[in-house]
Amino acid sequence: MQARVVRFVNGRIVANHSITPGELWISDGKIIAPSEKADSTVDVAGLIIAPGLIDLQINGGFGIDFTEEPERVLEVAKKLPQYGVTSFLPTCITSSKEHYRDCLTALRAQMNAAHDGANLLGIHLEGPFFNVKQKGAHNSALVRPCDCVETPEELYGSLEKVMIVTLAPELPGAENIISQLHKEGIIISCGHSSATYDEMQKAMNWGLSFATHLFNAMTPFHHREPGVVGSVLGTRGFMYSVIADPHHLHQKALELAYRLNPEGLVLVSDAMSALGLPAGHYHLGTMQVEVDEGKATISGTNILAGSIIALDSAMRYLVAATGCSLVEAIDAATIKPATLLQIQHQKGTLEVGADADFILLDDTLHVHSTYIAGELVPNA
Ligand code: ZN
Repeated sequence: MQARVVRFVNGRIVANHSITPGELWISDGKIIAPSEKADSTVDVAGLIIAPGLIDLQINGGFGIDFTEEPERVLEVAKKLPQYGVTSFLPTCITSSKEHYRDCLTALRAQMNAAHDGANLLGIHLEGPFFNVKQKGAHNSALVRPCDCVETPEELYGSLEKVMIVTLAPELPGAENIISQLHKEGIIISCGHSSATYDEMQKAMNWGLSFATHLFNAMTPFHHREPGVVGSVLGTRGFMYSVIADPHHLHQKALELAYRLNPEGLVLVSDAMSALGLPAGHYHLGTMQVEVDEGKATISGTNILAGSIIALDSAMRYLVAATGCSLVEAIDAATIKPATLLQIQHQKGTLEVGADADFILLDDTLHVHSTYIAGELVPNA
């Protein structure tokens, strides 16, 4: 039987870094070239048709923490489309060797299971090779130096499905770890780090190609020691993520990053288990977290413990802070993360042949509908 062809009309399409009037045609879960006849037509009433959002760093949501309850990741996957998120990398934070093995095994099993909702593209491992001075919300007892005897594969159990590892490249032994991960095709990102400018330059030569939640959990910019921030923003096109909410980044800091290195800017949520839930007490890995007035902190401290935003609100904050165009904000959550993962012809794009994961947005970047593999996702 011939697959049904659906045509979306009266919309504005995101393509090639611009938004232009056009139609989207899909069939069998893929985007197709316009053809002669469609089986059905959907009028999108002037909305923007954009690729589905891709979140490279999310720790959980809806009361579920991926590090503690990885077997429940699909419950979150089902609910993320309400924010326009169609793909994500569940993120596992600093853990013991035994816990990494269990957590990664459970995440991989869920990834291989048939499910509704957002796609699980792979895993982001945050830790354990962090500078303890920049541990942020990670448990200092579990942070490890890079000069341990195990290879990353021995520590994590397996590197299967691991797509990003965030580590501090200034640690003794980091060259070895970075080289091993790089050889496996894993993206190595600088984070929770006190690296100097020179240490960053060296690490970039070893294969480091990304920076995690720029400005947060790293030494600030100094005019005699530009550090990670100076390195990333001074290398036009070098990619970095930002948590675009007012608790993690002052609007002016976000604007500075955007002005200096707009091509590199990628939005992540770094959302924790309270995403989608009211103020209260929650978990991030082994840490207790309090959420109040939109801010998540380690209980009894002012240490930020991830966000409670999703990528749609990150896009809106980026526009408000920087005055960037709507398409730049959309690109920062779609084609740019897809390009980092080298899946830019399959996800984060509306080009012919790509997966039909797309969203309908209004001009304030609020999500009206989300489609995954060509199917409208009902609000879970
Ligand atoms: Zn972090």
